[in-house]
Amino acid sequence: MTTPAPVPAPATVLVFLDPAFDGGRVADATQPQLMATDLGATRGDGVFESLLAVGGRPRKIQAHLTRLAGSARLLELDIPAEDAWRRAVDTAIGEFRRQDPAAAATGGTDEVVVKLLVTRGPEGAAAATCWVQASAPAAAGRRQRETGIDVILLDRGYDSEVGERAPWLLLGAKTLSYAVNMAALRYAHRHGAADVIFTSADGRVLEGPTSTVLLAHLETADDGAGGVRTIRRLITPQLDSGILPGTSQGALFTAAKAAGWELGYGPLEPKDLLDADAVWLISSIRLLAPVNHIDGQEIGTPELRRQLTAELNALFATIE
Ligand code: PLP
Repeated sequence: MTTPAPVPAPATVLVFLDPAFDGGRVADATQPQLMATDLGATRGDGVFESLLAVGGRPRKIQAHLTRLAGSARLLELDIPAEDAWRRAVDTAIGEFRRQDPAAAATGGTDEVVVKLLVTRGPEGAAAATCWVQASAPAAAGRRQRETGIDVILLDRGYDSEVGERAPWLLLGAKTLSYAVNMAALRYAHRHGAADVIFTSADGRVLEGPTSTVLLAHLETADDGAGGVRTIRRLITPQLDSGILPGTSQGALFTAAKAAGWELGYGPLEPKDLLDADAVWLISSIRLLAPVNHIDGQEIGTPELRRQLTAELNALFATIE
């Protein structure tokens, strides 16, 4: 009996934004492409976005382009116009799918992770270095959507007003300086958790290292006709507390509102999370990851988490 040959993983696709190439310049990801003096590499001086393409279509592309432009503005980086990014994103997705038409390497989901990257360029450069990267999503993220995750609370060490007081900390920008976020995740893994919810020095719930925090509360109320109705409330930390405004949270809130959910914005404290009927970490690639335990304490019940996650997943699936 012969064993079938393993399906080769599709290579990462790189497309550099280059005025000489209308759709961007495709580059070989197995070869060096950046100068060793690029300030993105030497100082983490740059910005990025991560988005998911499903069936060849990038999701929430406008929200990501808007946030990329906002991050670039905060770092005083000049970046190409949205059209050039859109064309490069299409080239990268098209090239990735061309290499793997059956989407075998993405587990048949046809999901592609698309990153938009900007660095300040090599020292002394007149223009930023900009490129798009397309790659397969990690299996762990898909698994966590289904099984849920245990998280721990970690102090970020800043108070919730520092974003306003010290804008140079760039807390509202999606910068390439993610070493702190990655260190927090490694700390969580060492302590038996999959992820982290940061809290502020003044005890507020902030965000995950790569995600936005959401919680749901169900309440019953008089329906005015002798019966009861269920009020579904979806809450996230207030956006001006030094966190990155999530495009997934923003889109889900719009869809949930249309479906009759009430929406709320913090301030939230850890006890609000522990008292919730469900808590999620939401982001563009992993989507909704239900939180099973926070610091060892169960959130809601498995049945409630399952039900509410299915309901919000169905709403999220309607987002373009
Ligand atoms: N907060 C942080 C710090 C993030 O890094 C991310 C995404 O990577 C998010 C929130 C979620 O943002 P989005 O839903 O736009 O992916």
